[in-house]
Amino acid sequence: MQWLVPLSDIDSGTQEETAALDVLRSRWLTMGSVTEAFEEAFAALIKAPHAIAVCNATAGLHLACRAAGIGQGDEVILPSLTFVATAAACLYVGATPVFADVESEDDLDLSPSSVETRITGRTKAVIVVHYGGYACDMPRIMEIARAHRLVVIEDASHAPGGRLDGRSLGLWGDIGVFSFFSNKNMTTGEGGMLTTSRADLADRMRLLRSHAMTSLTWDRHQGHAASYDVLDLGYNYRLDELRSAIGQVQLARLEGNNERRRSLTALYRARLQVEAPEVTLPFSCPRGTSTCHLMPILLPRGCDRARFVDDMKASQVQTSLHYPPVHRFTFYQNHAPATGPLPMTEEVAQREVTLPLFPTMTMDQLDLVVRSVRQSLAA
Ligand SMILES: *Cc1c(COP(=O)(O)O)cnc(C)c1O
Repeated sequence: MQWLVPLSDIDSGTQEETAALDVLRSRWLTMGSVTEAFEEAFAALIKAPHAIAVCNATAGLHLACRAAGIGQGDEVILPSLTFVATAAACLYVGATPVFADVESEDDLDLSPSSVETRITGRTKAVIVVHYGGYACDMPRIMEIARAHRLVVIEDASHAPGGRLDGRSLGLWGDIGVFSFFSNKNMTTGEGGMLTTSRADLADRMRLLRSHAMTSLTWDRHQGHAASYDVLDLGYNYRLDELRSAIGQVQLARLEGNNERRRSLTALYRARLQVEAPEVTLPFSCPRGTSTCHLMPILLPRGCDRARFVDDMKASQVQTSLHYPPVHRFTFYQNHAPATGPLPMTEEVAQREVTLPLFPTMTMDQLDLVVRSVRQSLAA
């Protein structure tokens, strides 16, 4: 399919190519000084005391759950309106995912009051997802978490560079998890980052990231350590030097590209309000500074979404759905207990369509998307 407007596109050029080539020519490809520099640069950008690079955010969520001591018999509250990896991480450590509802048609983030109704004696943690880069109500979530002594993990896959009340997303809870998958706000192909203010969690995540070994290949290469011990059941969740080099260049582009996404989002909203007023545009007054990862719309009630998506496709405009709710998937129907109704999740999941949004999007492309939306709804 040749799209005139793809759902997303990466902003990458000769700087990324040179950075990767430099690493190849250096002949040290696994975790080392480039990854360390990438971690430091990411930490500086979001003002995180600790940042730990990982091979993807799914592995990062798993490490976060392990480091936070979530395990067998524990319950973890999270939204169903998310990517499946958020829920999978709970099951990786033997915990039970307990789905809570999203706030409203306007706020597609986890509802703090719905979280409260899901808390039991076994609840250990809450995983929030900053949907589309739009901050959850973190002050309220943290208040609830403190009252019930719950760990808070932020799935900030959509939100690198996002802020709320002067604090970066990913630094509100105990651990923040970022994704650098190719359709995210910055990319290394596959990759991710963990952030935390707690030295104990940072140490534990670093240990588990690399087989729980007491010394790294890098240390041995530098002559710091000759042997090692293994202290826990660890993983190989490292990021390599090639990706870290690309990540550093992508990171330098992040703030500018996020700003561009915000301008495009403002333009989309203004145009759609006039030309497709029957469409609902969530996040009418977002909390803090969004990274505008996604451009979600809700079709009018009763509108045939499959036909709408086909119409957009006929105009060569790619769309997506965020998300088919996790509790509806076959596997999760069998492995996550039904924990009460999720009426708002069901409602928005049926009507949501994600429009193309990426920093290099042109005015002509945005115009074509808006015209195609209007045409489909008028037909
Ligand atoms: C992309 C994404 C993930 C998984 O990220 P990977 O880096 O691909 O493992 C997890 N959660 C959310 C909300 C995502 O969008």
